[in-house]
Amino acid sequence: MPAQAVQLFPIKNSDNAWRDEVFESLNNKIDQIIQQTDMVKIDDITGAIFQSKSDILGQLVLGLIKKNYSELLNQEYCDCPICGKRLKAWNKKVKRTIESFGGCLDLCRPYFYCKHCHEGFYPLDEALGLAPSSKQYDIQDVEAWLATELPFKTSAEAFKRCTGDTLSSDHMFETTNKIASHFDILDICPTKDEIEQKVNELSDGKFRRPIMMIAIDGAHAPTRPEPSSWKGKRGKGEWKEVKGFRTYLIDTDNIIHFISWHQVQNDKELGEALLTIKNAGLIPEDKVRLCAIGDGASWIWNRIREIFPGIKEILDFYHCSEYIHELADAQYCKGTRKAQEWVEATFVRLFHNQVTGVIRGINRMKPTSPEAKKKIKDVVRYLSNHREKVDYGAAKRGGYHIGSGAIESANKFIAHVRLKRSGAWWYISNANNILKLRCAKCNGTYDRIIQKYKKLDRKKVYAKFNLANSM
Ligand SMILES: [Zn+2]
Repeated sequence: MPAQAVQLFPIKNSDNAWRDEVFESLNNKIDQIIQQTDMVKIDDITGAIFQSKSDILGQLVLGLIKKNYSELLNQEYCDCPICGKRLKAWNKKVKRTIESFGGCLDLCRPYFYCKHCHEGFYPLDEALGLAPSSKQYDIQDVEAWLATELPFKTSAEAFKRCTGDTLSSDHMFETTNKIASHFDILDICPTKDEIEQKVNELSDGKFRRPIMMIAIDGAHAPTRPEPSSWKGKRGKGEWKEVKGFRTYLIDTDNIIHFISWHQVQNDKELGEALLTIKNAGLIPEDKVRLCAIGDGASWIWNRIREIFPGIKEILDFYHCSEYIHELADAQYCKGTRKAQEWVEATFVRLFHNQVTGVIRGINRMKPTSPEAKKKIKDVVRYLSNHREKVDYGAAKRGGYHIGSGAIESANKFIAHVRLKRSGAWWYISNANNILKLRCAKCNGTYDRIIQKYKKLDRKKVYAKFNLANSM
């Protein structure tokens, strides 16, 4: 039974004492500001008001709480929401601080304790949906938003410059990790309906199904052993792979982005993530032409084939061309006309689906150096392993992407720009939390997960009173 529903009295509309209190506190504040500040320049005036804005707004908020919740502010008796026993409020109200962008205030409210259930509660907190922490959810949202873009210290500074309020970089760090730790891949993905709607819109009036690409790639992030102390030796740093994928539709020259998911993880975990989104219906296989693109890493293709057997596969053209160029440089010397001609002829043949002939030709080459010999062997193995993925001409004609630029840019944007900072060596769990939130931003689900976080966080405190779902 909701605690605030107990002992409800009609609101006295005629009672405007709260309004008088707001005006009185505002008057006092104005006097205080005038006494303390020489108001000569506009900067003096706005600066003085900006500094006091949290207090001024806080008093207004407090007034409105008094207006709407006078009965809960003065509640003397309450039934225990667990056992139903009649309880009397503690003699003294208990003070707590509330900080939000809408103001900062101290709230004194009745406290009830049930000796039988060993539980204490504040009906007013529950009615207001307060965050357990003094920093309310609007502040926590901005903390996490900033800290997923900037180093924690810079985030704290940006926060102070924009709001005038001080927050420590530790608080930024803790809030960001706390929020992100509530979520997993499906939370940060758009829903099945949202994806299908976009697929349907793109399909409308078209003869062929639209192309959905699944691009997979790895990047490197600086990590360190967990736990290691901030002071003294932190343990040896290690570069680990951030493995990720991106799904999107091709719309002529543009792409319609759906999902980015990047984590410091092994290929098995990436495979599980792919399977999760597949099982959740986020890859509408019957409505799209599905195509995977990636470089030559065997883990990519092993996982793709396990989860999407029969999918069209494309080897990233630029990755392939690097191999061809390196062989040409070794065999015919870098920058020579011969090298250039051979590269061009090889690409033409690959674009005409003549990979078997290309492999045969390379096999027949007489190596001009030990390095050329090695490159010949490498390229033959590489093309043989991926021979069914290099029919670039047909892929282009079909409208598929032959380059994995879309995932490489996602890697850079999601992982590199935040994780690769000088001196930053991340715990894997913290790096993954940042990545989750950055993916949510890319996927357009950031606001949604913040809403969900609010519900879950309140639930921890209020669930035992069966209230969280009513908030
Ligand atoms: Zn009880």
